[in-house]
Amino acid sequence: MGKTLVVGAGGVSHAAVHKMAMNADIFTEITLASRTKSKCDAIAASVKERVGVEIKTAELDANDVAATVALIKETGAEILVNLALPYQDLVLMDACLEAGCHYLDTANYEPEDVAKFEYHWQWAYQDKFKEAGLTAILGSGFDPGVTSVFATWLKKHKLDTIRQIDVLDANGGDNGQAFATNFNPEINLREVLAEVRHWENGEWLTSPAMSTKVEFDFPGVGVKNMYQMYHEELESLSTHFPEIERARFWMTFGDAYIMHAKVLENVGMTRIDPVMHDGKEIIPIQFLKTLLPDPGDLGALTKGKACIGDIATGQAKDGSGEKTYYIYNICDHEECYAEVGSQAVSYTTGVPAMIGAAQLLKGNWKEPGVWNMEQLDPDDFMDMLNTQGLPWQVHELDGPVEF
Ligand code: NDP
Repeated sequence: MGKTLVVGAGGVSHAAVHKMAMNADIFTEITLASRTKSKCDAIAASVKERVGVEIKTAELDANDVAATVALIKETGAEILVNLALPYQDLVLMDACLEAGCHYLDTANYEPEDVAKFEYHWQWAYQDKFKEAGLTAILGSGFDPGVTSVFATWLKKHKLDTIRQIDVLDANGGDNGQAFATNFNPEINLREVLAEVRHWENGEWLTSPAMSTKVEFDFPGVGVKNMYQMYHEELESLSTHFPEIERARFWMTFGDAYIMHAKVLENVGMTRIDPVMHDGKEIIPIQFLKTLLPDPGDLGALTKGKACIGDIATGQAKDGSGEKTYYIYNICDHEECYAEVGSQAVSYTTGVPAMIGAAQLLKGNWKEPGVWNMEQLDPDDFMDMLNTQGLPWQVHELDGPVEF
């Protein structure tokens, strides 16, 4: 159906590119480009071995817009799938506009020198993409991504309005490491240590990082402590579903993870500003990333399950009053590794990136402009989750959450 250029060759890319190759009727030609070409070649070799599909590889610094434009033109790509880092979102959107290519990513733009992720930088591209007749799909991972599609599916099929929504992300996986993050350590730690924000009655309320803890019994995972965090879908959901009175995000962390994160923060290892070391400028969090395990290598070691979903309360479509639904996926780390050689966090991000790109190539999501996932029709995406390894379930709860 279409030629695809994937940028970035980390853990998420590994899973996404394998799943694209498994859907060769949709992804007719795949090129994988990244800063370090050997990582692209390693993924290409694994795809060839596991799936029997040849993909092309290239070296690319995404910050070089002219080089990206040239590569888009050379490959004839219809869509660029950005699986590099949030820092590259705007330069890759610029390159897509210049080369006439659709765009998709899994995380919103974040300036490298300020730990602040907000959509306004990317939403400012709305008119440019519309005028160019191109589509940009923002945040097509699991959270953000599937969690927003879940909300839209509930609004299309179960609830007329959503009064309150909680996004719950549990990783019950154990990788045997003293401290490791599930995706890029720099991005992960910036997110986890950020001030908490949630949407309530028309305003953002703030609280210190890791200050609100709730015990929750996750399907397939069991009882875990989850902590309130800020996450980018809170901004897009509260913007696009203005009836939402309260939107919160929760993620599970073990005590050891929190202890390590706090110690690293206290000693300055998570600083994002340059410091002089031995006559050389270094950025502590980037040095820390070099020391920590590469999340892409944790697949073989990780056992257990992840469960991510939404609990939403609102007026039922059938006029029966207020209803609460819990919609979620349970994903098994070892099953992901057996299928594509990834752990579940890379898999639960990479598969929705593939499905989002497939929606564009199939022509379902091709309206020109810049779109968040909850603005797009959910049905075929939800069907593909079921057939592509991320089956979901929806259950009615007795009433709204009590935490
Ligand atoms: P990794 O660090 O494993 O991979 C990032 C890749 O991007 C690396 O191959 C890196 O190259 C490459 N890269 C970085 N800078 C450039 C550049 N300037 N030009 C070209 N390539 C570059 O990250 P993950 O795979 O863990 O995460 C990928 C993305 O997915 C991130 O944006 C993350 O925030 C997002 N994510 C989204 C989730 C969701 O559910 N929505 C969940 C998890 C992650 P090199 O190896 O040379 O450094």
